[in-house]
Amino acid sequence: MAVPLLDVTRQYDALKDELETAVLHVLAEGKFILGPEVTQLEENIAKLCGVAHAVGVASGTDALLLALRAAGVGPGDEVITTNFSFFATAGTIARLGAKPVFVDIEPDSYNIDPNYIESAITDKTKVIMPVHLFGQMADMDPIMEIARAHNLVVVEDAAQAIGAEYKGRKAGSIGDFGCFSFYPSKNLGAGGDGGMIVTNSDENYELCRILRVHGAKPKYYHKIVGYNSRLATIQAAMLLVKLPHLQSWSEKRIAHAKIYDAAFRGIERLKTPVVKDYTTFHIFNQYTIGIPNRDKVMAQLKGAGIGCEIYYPVPFHRQECFAYLNYSPDDFPFSNIASSEVLSIPVYSELTPEEQQEVIEAVTRIVS
Ligand SMILES: *Cc1c(COP(=O)(O)O)cnc(C)c1O
Repeated sequence: MAVPLLDVTRQYDALKDELETAVLHVLAEGKFILGPEVTQLEENIAKLCGVAHAVGVASGTDALLLALRAAGVGPGDEVITTNFSFFATAGTIARLGAKPVFVDIEPDSYNIDPNYIESAITDKTKVIMPVHLFGQMADMDPIMEIARAHNLVVVEDAAQAIGAEYKGRKAGSIGDFGCFSFYPSKNLGAGGDGGMIVTNSDENYELCRILRVHGAKPKYYHKIVGYNSRLATIQAAMLLVKLPHLQSWSEKRIAHAKIYDAAFRGIERLKTPVVKDYTTFHIFNQYTIGIPNRDKVMAQLKGAGIGCEIYYPVPFHRQECFAYLNYSPDDFPFSNIASSEVLSIPVYSELTPEEQQEVIEAVTRIVS
């Protein structure tokens, strides 16, 4: 039996009637861009996060881009972020003409190590952008402490962590901005691209709302040059149907993770994901194991029909597009180790017990 890494059609099958009704309603109403469903989704996401405001945008990447812009990031500025994440984290910094400054990760959580942040700060630093990788939040208390001491803005890349909690506080609610993605592979996935910025600041809220419509307020009067980054109403309508299920879907992922943890406990060469003491809710966007001969294991798993993927094979400091930053390949040892050992295996909510057993047997056989 083949087991996919993710099968988004199962969510559709489960919610078919509601999703179709919601989408057809948008088609009938014709308010395709920033329609009433977008406003409703913004209210619901703000409530979920316990923050004052939310702004729907075209993607998670745009959420980061607009938040950084709203934070005043531009040419000559520096933004400190993790060296190990999806490309958008670093790409958005560079797109604004700012310099991405990378710091290494904690070897257990794969999240940014706050201990390395302070020494990366210069008089050009404007923002710290932690990423909550794989569904577990970064260690936010020390990050916020450093940011406040140096007067820096914090933008949380919470694309993989909607609903996750750090010491009981929701992802996106601790920094000055929280950024979410509704890319179909995220825990709350749309039927296309979508994203959201959350913030407690009235001023930043207004700024993000203006930035997503070309910097206009009122329409056709532009104080600043913004972007076309509007959330499509059809996406918001689908997300409103899915949002009430997010908590139970994430709980199912946690249950799958616990079963994997128990099954893999005896395999010495296999590192299971570490859940930190401060993590009160890990949403397991990915269940990522660490293994020494990863590439061989991956090839054999794929040969056995088990979906698996490397998130991520190349840390930022070794990306060709960042050669101008002049890092050495040997910098950031923990990112280098992570990129050579990580492998994500199926953990999605609809994974059946039979499928999970198949994954466990294949991994155990191949790794042992
Ligand atoms: C998915 C993701 C993004 C980008 O979101 P898109 O909606 O795909 O643009 C940014 N950062 C991280 C960590 C992500 O996983």
